[in-house]
Amino acid sequence: MPGEVYLVGAGPGDLGLMTVRGMELLSSADVIVYDQLANPELLTRAKPGARLIDVGKQGGNHKVEQDGINRIIVDEAFRGRTVVRLKGGDPFMFGRGGEEAEELRKAGIAVHVVPGVTSAIAAPALAGIPVTHRDHTSTVTFVTGHERGDRTEGRIDWAALARLGGTIVILMGMSRLEENMAGLAEGGMDSSTPVAVVHRGSTPHQKVVVSTLGKVAEDCRRAGIASPAVVVVGGVASLHDVLGDLR
Ligand code: SAH
Repeated sequence: MPGEVYLVGAGPGDLGLMTVRGMELLSSADVIVYDQLANPELLTRAKPGARLIDVGKQGGNHKVEQDGINRIIVDEAFRGRTVVRLKGGDPFMFGRGGEEAEELRKAGIAVHVVPGVTSAIAAPALAGIPVTHRDHTSTVTFVTGHERGDRTEGRIDWAALARLGGTIVILMGMSRLEENMAGLAEGGMDSSTPVAVVHRGSTPHQKVVVSTLGKVAEDCRRAGIASPAVVVVGGVASLHDVLGDLR
């Protein structure tokens, strides 16, 4: 009998933000497959003798390709082992968890998901920024700032996002921050629109920059804020100045 695989959300970094179910599975799994962890302490919860497989880095910093990750998980499950595939935040929020679940289904392996606290909501929250607020907006859009290079259709229409308004939460948004903010401005968004950037939310290294659409890229450069960070565009971003640090 093949073992079962659990795609487990590890939350944004703070151990207290991992779910109880996730923690139980972590301490009972035979195999834990992980990549760059916001909190390496999670691995100390593994049971003695559990196999810990780092697919984030190998040898000279090369990532194991997605196919390789899928193969490792499938092989371990076919050996009858219970596998936890640990992923930052929530496994299905820009985490490629969906792709892994599909591969496991195809291989006929039982797969389960344990949702996690996503950085898309938690990092702003801990910086005093509710992603919705009745005085500001009743919509929130989650978007990646960095699309895969092979995508020719369905490019993100930043101008359309600008017209939609509401809160825009950008993950993986630092490398193309300037271009993406320009895209929103071209769509008619005011350059004085509040924008907040929350770096390593929930960790002791949490940093927040509050700026505007027109100035945020420059302000982040000056403050030395890089990935991983969540970018929040919209009126709610100004609430950091009211609510402050909510950790
Ligand atoms: N599945 C994850 C997101 C994976 S994509 C989740 O639900 O949180 C990786 C991106 O997540 C990073 O580029 C960054 O934008 C964001 N991120 C992850 N952890 C973060 C944290 N602690 N603080 C701020 N941003 C974080």
